Amino acid sequence: MRIGILSRNKNLYSTRRLIEAGEARGHEMHVLDPLRCYMNINAKEPEIHMRGKELPVFDAVIPRIGASITFYGTAVLRQFEMMGTYPLNESVAISRSRDKLRSLQLLSRKGIGLPVTGFASKPSDIPDLIDMVGGAPLVIKLLEGTQGIGVVLAETRKAAESVIEAFMGLNAHFMVQEYIKEAGGADLRCFVIGDKVIAAMKRQAKPGEFRSNLHRGGSATLVKLSPAERATAVKAAKTMGLNVAGVDILRSNHGPLVMEVNSSPGLEGIETATDKDVATQIISFIEKTAQLHKTRTKGR
Ligand code: ADP
Ligand code: GLU
Repeated sequence: MRIGILSRNKNLYSTRRLIEAGEARGHEMHVLDPLRCYMNINAKEPEIHMRGKELPVFDAVIPRIGASITFYGTAVLRQFEMMGTYPLNESVAISRSRDKLRSLQLLSRKGIGLPVTGFASKPSDIPDLIDMVGGAPLVIKLLEGTQGIGVVLAETRKAAESVIEAFMGLNAHFMVQEYIKEAGGADLRCFVIGDKVIAAMKRQAKPGEFRSNLHRGGSATLVKLSPAERATAVKAAKTMGLNVAGVDILRSNHGPLVMEVNSSPGLEGIETATDKDVATQIISFIEKTAQLHKTRTKGR
């Protein structure tokens, strides 16, 4: 097959691993920088061009679209879909998963466990908002944040009010969440492909820190999931309409709680922690499911 990887940089670990795994299985792998693609939107013959030339037909594309280029990247992916190329994850599912509030609302509709979450836009609503999530300590998250930046633990009600007022003053969108203390500064990254969790790791925050992101100094180890955790991760990915997803779960004393569903989960952390060849599993999933001109929008 001719497979494109929509990625800005061919030297990134995940991109390199996907090229390697695809070539090892006899596919023609191409890295396409989405920002270098330009398009002709037209009902009869949609086209994508790059550096003055029309791109050939691709059987499948693997979107690895960073959060900062979601808008343009998903537009390019949509164009591939219009041309009949099979997307590993669909553009609508990626856009949906990038909106944290929308994602939590969709997951809650399916009865998936979530930390109690509130959001508001008026300073006068702050006291009730804090009560809604059970008072302090609580977690305040900027909706635009990634890699743990913009996630604050407010130990007291006073601290929570100050942080919320500050975010509101900056016109930043945020949500407040009950603090799951019993998770002990750890979370689970469940790597879902299709209807299976194919690898999972536990990420533990460094001492004195509650955020377990590897970018914030957390460490990762192989973990065995409970059947409920597996089922939750698969259901969360399915609800978002993602074939491949990194589902982040907190272990609470009332079961698994989903924090977030990532549409471009990184391969380096998970392959290193679990010693599994995740890249090859992604390629073989594409071999099984990719069919030209069979793009249908899933999810809701
Ligand atoms: P990001 O998308 O920036 O990684 P997250 O929402 O995943 O932000 O939060 C970063 C980290 O903070 C999580 O990996 C987790 O360890 C911790 N965390 C987030 N929300 C909660 C919560 N409600 N209770 C306890 N810990 C949390
Ligand atoms: N690569 C990051 C991760 O796996 C973020 C992915 C995304 O934003 O979709 O945590």
